[in-house]
Amino acid sequence: MKPSAFAYARPRALEEAFALLEKHGDNAKLLAGGQSLVASLNMRLAAPGILVDIGALAGLEGIALKGKTLVIGARTTHRAIERSEIVARHAPLLAQAAPHIAHVAIRNAGTLGGSLALADPAAEWPACCVALEATIVLASKKGERRIAAAEFFRDLYTTALGAGELITAVEIPCAAPEERHAFVELARRRGDYAIVGLAARARVRNAVLAGLRLVFLGVGVTPVLASGAMAALEGRTADDAALRAAQAALDRDLAPSADLYTSAQAKRHMAGVLVARAAAALAG
Ligand SMILES: Cc1cc2nc3c(=O)[nH]c(=O)nc-3n(C[C@H](O)[C@H](O)[C@H](O)COP(=O)(O)OP(=O)(O)OC[C@H]3O[C@@H](n4cnc5c(N)ncnc54)[C@H](O)[C@@H]3O)c2cc1C
Repeated sequence: MKPSAFAYARPRALEEAFALLEKHGDNAKLLAGGQSLVASLNMRLAAPGILVDIGALAGLEGIALKGKTLVIGARTTHRAIERSEIVARHAPLLAQAAPHIAHVAIRNAGTLGGSLALADPAAEWPACCVALEATIVLASKKGERRIAAAEFFRDLYTTALGAGELITAVEIPCAAPEERHAFVELARRRGDYAIVGLAARARVRNAVLAGLRLVFLGVGVTPVLASGAMAALEGRTADDAALRAAQAALDRDLAPSADLYTSAQAKRHMAGVLVARAAAALAG
C-alpha cells in the first residue's frame, strides 16, 4: 500500500515547528527517524494531512554531560547512543539495551524521542528511562516542562505529550560509583521486538543489592515497575532463596496478556527467568 497524500514541512526553528503544530492541530504529525511512522503511513494506520519533519531543527541532537546529568537530545539515534562512550560510562543500561533494538539499519535512523513518543509497550527505551529515573523534557509554544519518565507513559501507545508539544531531550542522572546495570530480554529472533525484557539497576556492595529498580517491558501496556520483586531482593545477594522470593513476587507485580504467539503463562515464566539473569548479572 501507499500512504494517502500529505503535505510536508521541514522547519528550521522550534518556533516554526510550534506554529505548524498549532495551525494544523491533530492533522499534523511529527516525523523523526520515520522508522515507525512511515510504516504506519504506508499501511494507512495514520493519515495526517501534514508531516512536520524535525530533522533540521537545531539543538535536538547529541549527547552531553551536564554536571551529574547525562542529557540526550530527542533526535539522537539509537545507534549514536549505542556507540557513545559517555553513555557507556554514565548510563551503561542504555549501552546494553541498544543492540536489542531492531537492526543496525533501523538503529541508524530511529531516534530516542521517536521511541519514547511512540510508547510501544515492547520498546527498550521507555523501560530503561523508567529504570534510570530519567526526566523527559517537553517543549511547546507555551514553554518547556519536565516530566518523570515514570509519569510519562500513560497507557497503550499513550503518553503525557500534550497538543502542540514535542520531546526535546531526556535527562538521566549519571550512575553512582557503586551502581550496576543489567539489560536482558527474550525475543523470537535477534532484532525482533522483545517478548519480555527487563531493565535493572542496583547499588552493589559485596554482592548485596540495594536501591533496586526492576522495570519490565512487554508484559503490560506501559513499562512495569516490579516493586514486589524489588523488595524481595533488597538488601540480599542473588542467592537461590532471594531469587525464588523475587520470582514469586512477580505474580503480584505482573499481569501479562497473551498475544498471537506467546501465552500469558509463558510470558510470566520468561519474566521469572529474566529476574534471575538480571539479579545474577547485577550481583556478579
Ligand atoms: C522492523 C522494525 C523493528 C523494530 N524493532 C524495534 C525494537 O525491537 N525495539 C524498539 O524499541 N523499536 C523497534 N522498532 C521501532 C524503531 O525503534 C523506531 O525507530 C522508533 O520506535 C521510532 O523512532 P523514529 O525516530 O523512527 O520515530 P518516527 O517513526 O519518525 O515517529 C514515531 C512517532 O513518534 C512521534 N515523534 C517522533 N519524534 C518526536 C518528538 N521528538 N516529540 C514528539 N513526538 C515525536 C511521531 O510523530 C510518531 O508518532 C522497530 C522498527 C522496525 C521498522
